[in-house]
Amino acid sequence: MTQNLNPFQIAQQQLDEAARLLGLDPATHALLREPQRELVVNFPVRMDDGQVKVFKGYRVQYNDSRGPTKGGLRFHPEETIDTVRALAAWMTWKCAVVDIPLGGAKGGVTCNPKTFSPYELERVARGYIRAIYKILGEKTDVPAPDVYTNPQVMAWMMDEYSIIQGHNVPGVITGKPLPLGGSQGRTDATARGGIFCVREAAKVLDVNLEEATAAIQGYGNAGQFAHQLVVELLGMKVVAISDSRGGIYNPNGLDYRATIKHKNTTGSVVEFEGAQSISNEDLLALEVTVLFPSALENVITGHNAIHIKAKIVAELANGPTTPEADQVLYENGIYVIPDFLCNAGGVTVSYFEQVQNAYNYYWPLELIHERLDFKMTAAFHAVHEMAEVKKVHNRLAAYLVAVDRVAEAVRLRGWV
Ligand code: GLU
Repeated sequence: MTQNLNPFQIAQQQLDEAARLLGLDPATHALLREPQRELVVNFPVRMDDGQVKVFKGYRVQYNDSRGPTKGGLRFHPEETIDTVRALAAWMTWKCAVVDIPLGGAKGGVTCNPKTFSPYELERVARGYIRAIYKILGEKTDVPAPDVYTNPQVMAWMMDEYSIIQGHNVPGVITGKPLPLGGSQGRTDATARGGIFCVREAAKVLDVNLEEATAAIQGYGNAGQFAHQLVVELLGMKVVAISDSRGGIYNPNGLDYRATIKHKNTTGSVVEFEGAQSISNEDLLALEVTVLFPSALENVITGHNAIHIKAKIVAELANGPTTPEADQVLYENGIYVIPDFLCNAGGVTVSYFEQVQNAYNYYWPLELIHERLDFKMTAAFHAVHEMAEVKKVHNRLAAYLVAVDRVAEAVRLRGWV
């Protein structure tokens, strides 16, 4: 959120363009332009110093025509209803583009979890669930982790929900730790799905990835696993990484074990030994094979898109590129793997987690990887072909695939 662009207006603008190209009827367009349901809550939490603080939380259920709504929860100081609405819309298109039987939702709490003790974090997580539990359920709406939430937070939330219901309900939340009904392969699923897309993009673009280079903007869950997997699965070299405090650069490559250790011990990648420092802006402009925006919204904008020199932009973050920037990247021949395709691996394995919870039988890791690969590869090629046929950029192509599927469900249900 480096600029004051309203992500929900961007999401609506992207939909409008797809609706026009699809010739969507006005009623379906109007329905898909707004969330079906939103809940805003203010809930009290007792902090460690004995004082009570009131937090604002949100849950937006965007569209459930294809199935129960699904999407993560962010704990972030800049969370607003409009970021949550945009992210809920993107979840709807995300589930549709990988063709899983779920709708889209998103939620969050405006807070800075970096200032919480573990006990405070737990009380915020439980307080939020007590405030919104009435609209959740394994067959209605299923949250998951997102920015600054993790499997432990999901465990507390699932426990709180189960206590309220009076029985164990593992399927109400995904991204849980393994002993509580989590799925194998969920932690690195977002990055892994993106890596499968990069592999397929390299095939269609005829790019040799052995010894190719990458830069990673954002070094949270998705960025760190992307680092490990581009090295292990694709044989690439990561030459630059940044996070909210700054960036590091080494043209000979950065070792993921060492950089992840440094990040976990110091809280940032900056001052990593043996690397030069680099600004976020300079990192975005590096001449690398693949650039991975892996943090927050509005990072590649009308101002800096012109400087991007990567062959492929693989968006692990949600909403990193503005519509203005999309046009510039397209005109400059940069191949963008759009967010709700590129980062759909997370929700795909969340769906596998739900399936396993529902029949209470758990799959081995190899099966998860194989099924994730199948889903991501199929989605990638559906989007790539749409872009070729319609002669549009990949984001618009992804919208055409996804919105058409949601519109069909809306029609078949007889809503319009
Ligand atoms: N928060 C992730 C996303 O934006 C995962 C959502 C989920 O697993 O439900 O896709």
